[in-house]
Amino acid sequence: MKLLQDKVLSEGIVLSEKVLKVDSFLNHQMDPVLMKEVGKEFARLFEAEGITKVLTIESSGIAPAIMAALELEVPMIFARKQKSLTLREDIYVEKVYSFTKEQSNDVTVSKKFLFPNDRVLIIDDFLAHGEAALGLARIAEQAGATVAGIGIVIEKSFQSGAQRIKEAGYRVESLVRIASLADGKVTFATEETV
Ligand code: 5GP
Repeated sequence: MKLLQDKVLSEGIVLSEKVLKVDSFLNHQMDPVLMKEVGKEFARLFEAEGITKVLTIESSGIAPAIMAALELEVPMIFARKQKSLTLREDIYVEKVYSFTKEQSNDVTVSKKFLFPNDRVLIIDDFLAHGEAALGLARIAEQAGATVAGIGIVIEKSFQSGAQRIKEAGYRVESLVRIASLADGKVTFATEETV
């Protein structure tokens, strides 16, 4: 997605060979006009999938997920991150290791909002090793729902996430794919270089 590539190039800050900071439009300040376009693009990519729910994880997934849900005219659910939980009957829980925080969280969704007839589109801001996306997929599957696809705003293709998701049998669509963050600069995967 050209608009998003341009934004990454102009405002993304390469913190290391593995981490990109995009706090001016996605991770702290959010750009609603860009997020609206992101939502439209996810809706276009997954329009044939019969999506009934969009599922993301708090907090940076919420903006792209709500915009996709708005376009698809379905509810959006954000999974909550919690430190540790006593066993409860009313929620689905999965352990998810956080790439940025370097710790595991219990990630939860209320059983009130996911059902076996749901076709779920999972959305997240970044894809690194796929922990968050695969954790959300496990939650959808606990509910007996179908994971119809996984939509990612920024994929770091040099990390293992996309491959792990494909190996797990899910369709993944990333709006931009970064091949490298070496030498302090962003290099996109080849099919996206203009
Ligand atoms: P994964 O679960 O795929 O290993 O990592 C994805 C999650 O970690 C995303 O939800 C995102 O919040 C965070 N993340 C991973 N890599 C980056 C990065 O380079 N920059 C930022 N801002 N967040 C990242």
